Amino acid sequence: MKLLMHTCCAPCSVYCIDSLRNEKIEPTVYWYNPNIHPYTEYKARRNCLKEYTSSINVQAIFEDEYGLKDFCQNVIGNLENRCTSYCYVVRLEQTAKYAKEHGFDTITTTLLVSPYQKHDEIKKIGEKIAQKYGLDFLYRDFRVGFREGQAKARELGLYMQKYCGCIFSEESSFLTNENTKLNLPKDFEFLPVKTTIIINKEKNNKKQYMNLLLDADPSEKMIEKYLKDGDVFVLRYKEEVVCVAVVTKVDRDTIELKNIVTKEQYRGKGYAKKMIKYLADNYKQTYKKMIVGTTENNIPFYVKQGFDKYEKTLKDFFIDNYEEEIKDGDLVCTDMIYYSKDLKKV
Ligand code: SF4
Repeated sequence: MKLLMHTCCAPCSVYCIDSLRNEKIEPTVYWYNPNIHPYTEYKARRNCLKEYTSSINVQAIFEDEYGLKDFCQNVIGNLENRCTSYCYVVRLEQTAKYAKEHGFDTITTTLLVSPYQKHDEIKKIGEKIAQKYGLDFLYRDFRVGFREGQAKARELGLYMQKYCGCIFSEESSFLTNENTKLNLPKDFEFLPVKTTIIINKEKNNKKQYMNLLLDADPSEKMIEKYLKDGDVFVLRYKEEVVCVAVVTKVDRDTIELKNIVTKEQYRGKGYAKKMIKYLADNYKQTYKKMIVGTTENNIPFYVKQGFDKYEKTLKDFFIDNYEEEIKDGDLVCTDMIYYSKDLKKV
């Protein structure tokens, strides 16, 4: 196999190169990223990759194209879908083109390591483009080694970026950080409804949130199971419930966020993020990590909230445990994917 690996940056390349070399596959690194802004950031990431690849003796090709104007012109009309409709496509298309012209038979990408990216879409786009050029697409779920790779990159002193690449991702990354500070608007308050209080006083009290919890988990039977032993937390605005979360104990070090849901009219305002921050603060003295099981679509949200370590996948969880087909947007849910948040870092 002669493999050309599209590479977005040095930190993401660490685990991909290591794991491929463990499989006795030697990739050629291919830098083509006209999606990184501003130019100083582009240069910092590119130069770091140059130094890193030469330090580990991996062959690397650098296609230098900053491409700010083209990028912005092409995504501005459809910012919401810019990653899948343009950014992944141009980078993988150029990789395939170069591969074809230079005798490579297979392509892949380090984008497959990042839990922040739309993993399944990258796979689909990569396979389609590879096929168009008569190449193979080497798929690996590199996400299992994301944290390990990032830790090694930090140890090596590689340049670590703080956002995905484009100016729009820079904006949302820094705005998210601002919004997750726990400065609640006037009249908002957290109301922890702890198991002990409920058991002693109002046994059925937790069920009053059932209707809202069903928005996030459509099975009453499943909710009842974890509600029974779970701690319920409520974010209230005056007398109105805004957001509810249920947390259960897994073992002496671990808790699980079983359900988190915001009432429809309050969605998109960052209350679930505030809730997660509140929960992490609440549990960090007693537990080491918080896990969450999610569908593919919601991984980027949880990773942004610090659930950045991949734990496990429960194959066909939604098929085996729910009577009806579960959909998350257009996605038919099959597997439950677990990520964890290190509470010691909170
Ligand atoms: S967020 Fe990242 S993947 Fe999406 S368009 Fe911007 S640079 Fe590309």
